[in-house]
Amino acid sequence: MHVAFIGMGANLGHREATIRAALDRLRQAPGVAAVTSSSLHETAAVGGPAGQPPYLNGAARIETTLEPEPLLDLLLNIERMLGRVRREKWGPRIIDLDLLLFDDRVIDTPRLTVPHPRLHERRFVLEPLAEVAGEVRHPVLNQTIPELLARLPGAG
Ligand code: ATP
Ligand code: CA
Ligand code: CA
Repeated sequence: MHVAFIGMGANLGHREATIRAALDRLRQAPGVAAVTSSSLHETAAVGGPAGQPPYLNGAARIETTLEPEPLLDLLLNIERMLGRVRREKWGPRIIDLDLLLFDDRVIDTPRLTVPHPRLHERRFVLEPLAEVAGEVRHPVLNQTIPELLARLPGAG
């Protein structure tokens, strides 16, 4: 069994309902067990086009028998089922599901980078992740999630 962490974000439509629906789909997916989720945090949109509505962000810890690539496919499928359409880079979206961490694996392929390459610089990812990640360490930076939060500019 593998342990993976998923980052979730939504800034269009009924954000909380969509994130809950994504969690339900994850729970029901073959090969996924023990889904636990953080509280949902509201944050202003960072980057991308100006004037986007605020995000609701959360994180989930899952236990899974899926390997990373099939897990990414599952996440992209759930995004599609919930109605996400990709338009401009970092534009507003109904749902975004990112694979943040997968055991202590380091992966760099054209379609999948793990740990997620921007996870350590995003407060909106690290804060919900801290609620579900316990003492987990970033396998490249070798720091816990609270340690990464403490390193962010403006922290402390
Ligand atoms: P960001 O990656 O900065 O959070 P984004 O989530 O808006 O941006 P998307 O348009 O959702 O980016 O994803 C583009 C592609 O990123 C996906 O099709 C996927 O192949 C690739 N990708 C690479 N690594 C990951 C990962 N760890 N989790 C999710 N997608 C990834
Ligand atoms: Ca993302
Ligand atoms: Ca994404």
